[in-house]
Amino acid sequence: MRTFQELGLNEDLLNAITDMGFVTPSDVQAQAIPLLLNEERDLVALAQTGTGKTAAFGFPMLEKIDIDSRTTQGLILSPTRELCLQITNELKQYGKYCNGLNVVAIYGGASITEQAKQVKRGAQIIVATPGRMKDMISRKLVDISKIQYSVLDEADEMLNMGFYEDITDILSHTPDDKSTWLFSATMPREVAAIANKFMYDPLEITVGNKNESTSNVSHEYYLVNARDRYQALKRLADAHPDIFSVIFCRTKRDTQKVAENLIESGYSAGALHGDLSQNQRDLVMKSFRNKQIQMLVATDVAARGIDVDDITHVINYQLPDEIETYTHRSGRTGRAGKTGVSMVIVSKSELRKIKTIERIIKKQFEKKDIPSGTEITEVQLMSLANKIHTTETGDEIDKYLESINELFVDTSKEDLIKKFFSVEFNRFFNYYQKSKDLSVVDARDGGEGRVSSNDTRYFINVGRKDGFDWMKLKDFLKEKLELGRDDVFKVDVKESFSFFNTEKTLQEKVLAFFTDFKHEGRFVNVEVSENKGRSGSGRRRDGGGRRRNSGGGRRRSDDRRSERRSSDKKPRRSDDSGNRGNRRSRRSNNDKPRGRRSEHSGSNFSGSDRPRRSRRK
Ligand code: ADP
Ligand code: MG
Repeated sequence: MRTFQELGLNEDLLNAITDMGFVTPSDVQAQAIPLLLNEERDLVALAQTGTGKTAAFGFPMLEKIDIDSRTTQGLILSPTRELCLQITNELKQYGKYCNGLNVVAIYGGASITEQAKQVKRGAQIIVATPGRMKDMISRKLVDISKIQYSVLDEADEMLNMGFYEDITDILSHTPDDKSTWLFSATMPREVAAIANKFMYDPLEITVGNKNESTSNVSHEYYLVNARDRYQALKRLADAHPDIFSVIFCRTKRDTQKVAENLIESGYSAGALHGDLSQNQRDLVMKSFRNKQIQMLVATDVAARGIDVDDITHVINYQLPDEIETYTHRSGRTGRAGKTGVSMVIVSKSELRKIKTIERIIKKQFEKKDIPSGTEITEVQLMSLANKIHTTETGDEIDKYLESINELFVDTSKEDLIKKFFSVEFNRFFNYYQKSKDLSVVDARDGGEGRVSSNDTRYFINVGRKDGFDWMKLKDFLKEKLELGRDDVFKVDVKESFSFFNTEKTLQEKVLAFFTDFKHEGRFVNVEVSENKGRSGSGRRRDGGGRRRNSGGGRRRSDDRRSERRSSDKKPRRSDDSGNRGNRRSRRSNNDKPRGRRSEHSGSNFSGSDRPRRSRRK
C-alpha cells in the first residue's frame, strides 16, 4: 500500500496528515492525488460517500495554489451549507502548516457582507454553495476570473437539488483554461452531461462499483405490522443502548412526529427537515455532533451529506420512494473504516422492495426479529454493568460517599448489586412484561429458523468497539473454539458486548475455553445468557421474574422515590405503552422504559442535559 509521502505531497501537508491521524491514503486518494499533482487535467472521480474525497481534491489543491498570493485560485462548489462548512474546516486542518492560507466558506443563511469581507482579505480558496455563490458574483463581491482549479463536489447531489443553472452560471465567470475536478458518488445522466459540457477530455477514476454501498455496512430488515412501526423503532433503540443513529422518514411531517414521539418517550432525539429554520437545523446538528442527540430523525434531503463519522446505525423507518436513495442513506454509517448497520423496518406490502435493494447494492439483507423484552432487558442490564465496570473514578466524589456508605453499612455486596441493578431491571421488566412479539413471520423463510431448546445463548464481553462485527466475531469464535461452519449462530454484536448461540452440547467446551482467555490483553468473559436470541413468545424466565417481582415489592417505596424524582424533572404522558392497564406501573408513572435523556435521572448516570461522559472511545 502506498503512503502519503509516496504520493508526492509536501512536508507541510504531510505534517498535517500525521496530526490528523491519517496513515494510509484511501483508494480515491491514492488514485487522484498523484494524477492531479502531476498533470493539469480535468478529472471525473466516482467514489462512495465516506471514501475520503475531500482530501483527494483538497491535498492537490493546497499543494498547487500559490499561498503567497491573495488571489482566489481555487473554487469548490458543494450542495449544502453543512458540507460547505465541513469541507472548509477539513481544508483548514490540512493546511494548518501552510502559513498565510485563507479558506473562506460562502453559503446562504448567513451574513453576505461578513462573507464578502472575508473574501476581500484575500482568500486563495473559496468553498461555496451554488445559490449564494451566484448571488455574490452578481453583486460583484467575489472575483473568480483567475480561478485555476474548480471542484464540483457531490455533483450528483448538486444536480438533484436543481443547481444545474447556477453551476452553469458560476462556471461562465471562470477562465477556460482552469482545471475542473468533478467528484460524485454516482454518475447519472445529468452528471455526465455536466462533464461533457464543462470539461475537456477528463481523466476518469472509479473506486469500487459505483452503485455498491459501503462494504463496512451490513444490512438488516425487520418485518412488522405497519401499525407497530413506532414500537419496533423504540425496541431497536432499546436493544442498542449505545446507538448513535440517523432515522430516515419519508416526509417532513413523519420526521417531525417520530422525533417528537421519541423525545416524549424519553429518548434523546432530534428532527432535521426543511421546515425548520436554518438556526434550528444548526442547533440540531450541533447537538448530534456532540452526541447529545443519539437519534437524529431526518428527511433524505435534510440529511444529505451529513458527515458524522461514528454513526452506528441507520434506521429506515420507512423505505424511500426512490429505491436508489437507500444507498445514500446507508452510506451515512460505516464511515472512516468503521462498521455500521443499516436497518429497515418493513411491512409485508413493502417486502418486495428489499429484493430490489439487494439487487442494487449487490448485498444480501439479513432478516432479523425485533428484539424481545427479555433480550432488551438483558442488553440494558449488561450494558449498565459494563459501564459501571469500566467507569473511571476520581477523588472528587469521596466527600459524598461517607453518607452513602452509612446508608448501606448493613447491605452486603450481593444485595447492593441486586438493588442497584433492580432500579434498571424493574423498569424494563415491568414495561416489557406484557408486551407482545412484534415480529411478523415472513412466509418466504418458513418461520422460526434455527431456535430450539437445544441451543445455548452466550453473552461475551467484546463488541463493536473491539473491532468486531457479526462476521468477524463468528470467525473469531469458530477459529478459537475450533468449531465448524454452522456451529456458531445468531451472533449479535453490540457496542461493548455481544451474544451468540451454539448447540447445547458445545456449552461445556465454550465455557471451559473462555475461563482463562485473553484477547488483546483483556480477559474475555463468556456467560450463558438467559434469552435465546429470538423474540419473545413465552421464553421469559417466569419463575425468576416472579421472584424478582416480589422482591421489587419490598423495595417499592425506595424505587418510587427515585422514580418520582425523575418524573418531577420531566413529566411524561403514558400514552404509548403496551401495558396501559398495569396498575402498578401506572401508579409509579413508570410504564415505559426511559430513553437516554432521563432514564438515569433518578440515579447518578448521565442524562444529556448534564455533563456527559465520552462515549465510544
Ligand atoms: P467523502 O467526501 O468521500 O464522503 P470525506 O472526505 O468526508 O469523504 O471523508 C470521510 C472521513 O474520512 C472524514 O472524517 C475524513 O477525515 C476521513 N478520512 C479521509 N481520508 C482518510 C485517510 N486516508 N485515513 C483516515 N481517515 C480519512
Ligand atoms: Mg464529501
